[in-house]
Amino acid sequence: MTFVPANEGIAKLNPYQPGKPISELERELGLTDIVKLASNENPLGCSDKVKEAVAAELSEIGRYPDGGGFILKDQVQKQFGVAHNQITLGNGSNDLLEIFARAFVSSEDSVVYSQHAFAVYGLVTQAINAEAIEVPAKGFSHDLDAMAAAIKTNTKLIFIANPNNPTGTWFEEAEFEAFMQKVPANVIVVLDEAYVEYFPENFNSLKFLAKYPNLIVSRTMSKCFGLAALRVGFALASVEVTDFLNRIRQPFNVNHLAMVAAVAALKDEDFIEKSRVVNKAGMAQLEAGFKALGLSYVPSRANFILVDVQADPAQTFNALLKQGVIVRPVGIANHLRVSIGTEAENAKFLTALAKVLSLEATA
Ligand SMILES: *Cc1c(COP(=O)(O)O)cnc(C)c1O
Repeated sequence: MTFVPANEGIAKLNPYQPGKPISELERELGLTDIVKLASNENPLGCSDKVKEAVAAELSEIGRYPDGGGFILKDQVQKQFGVAHNQITLGNGSNDLLEIFARAFVSSEDSVVYSQHAFAVYGLVTQAINAEAIEVPAKGFSHDLDAMAAAIKTNTKLIFIANPNNPTGTWFEEAEFEAFMQKVPANVIVVLDEAYVEYFPENFNSLKFLAKYPNLIVSRTMSKCFGLAALRVGFALASVEVTDFLNRIRQPFNVNHLAMVAAVAALKDEDFIEKSRVVNKAGMAQLEAGFKALGLSYVPSRANFILVDVQADPAQTFNALLKQGVIVRPVGIANHLRVSIGTEAENAKFLTALAKVLSLEATA
């Protein structure tokens, strides 16, 4: 066949591999009682207030959503002090990551991101057929100095995650400030803060927005807020940048029930606080469990942790599936990423891990 229908970038694209759904493993192995710790979802689900708010709006399904997203932008403005014309709504933040690349990058340009970064950065770059500049990580962390040094004259955009997925590593404000000082004003910096709610004391990105018109702060409702199924994210940036993003955003990219849910979720600070407490306890439980098994891990400020299983990750992943536990191989030798679950889920995972690695816990 000589006819090649796809554009060059897409022809070479390997699609994103999502975490394995529970229903799929149930079908494949006939298991029940499966624990999924593979996609960094909130083990508490979502707030009851979200469920009530969505139920109250079900009769609105027949109408198009508000394309301007007024109610959600208003809540974001109240909470983060950013005006409506500095907010871009996305169908999850994955949608936004693609919008950022499409708005600012062409096939003649380059995009900078780190080794061991979120897989979607490479995918959206590839889809445009732009040049990808993957900067070696420092240990498991972003090397911000090397990333600044990697900027070329054709670089249009830099993707940074803080904390980073899949490594859980983070950097402090002073390091980021030093980095921003080095980035030319015509290069867009995307600061992806998908996990910022878990350790909010770590970093205040909002104060950088006023100072750097080339900065985009990206947030999601999928992780701590527990709305992964509904697909909502939002980006905060200068008025100029936001204008470009909204030109290519699909007018109804966020549906009505998702917006209603997002407003209720943003308002429910008690649920977020409870989620943080469960996450911290679960992180401590897994860290203690790994230590008892003699396994090392990468300290994390997110809702997941990367553990060195001292074995082939794909084989270990498959052996864990047979025990009814879904985790995630992330392309890092000997390591698996595991999302923090409830106490019972974490315990089941640790027991299964000890079994498949034939390790004995020493308390
Ligand atoms: C999970 C995640 C996202 C986004 O998820 P959405 O569900 O599309 O909002 C974005 N960035 C990183 C680093 C993530 O881990």
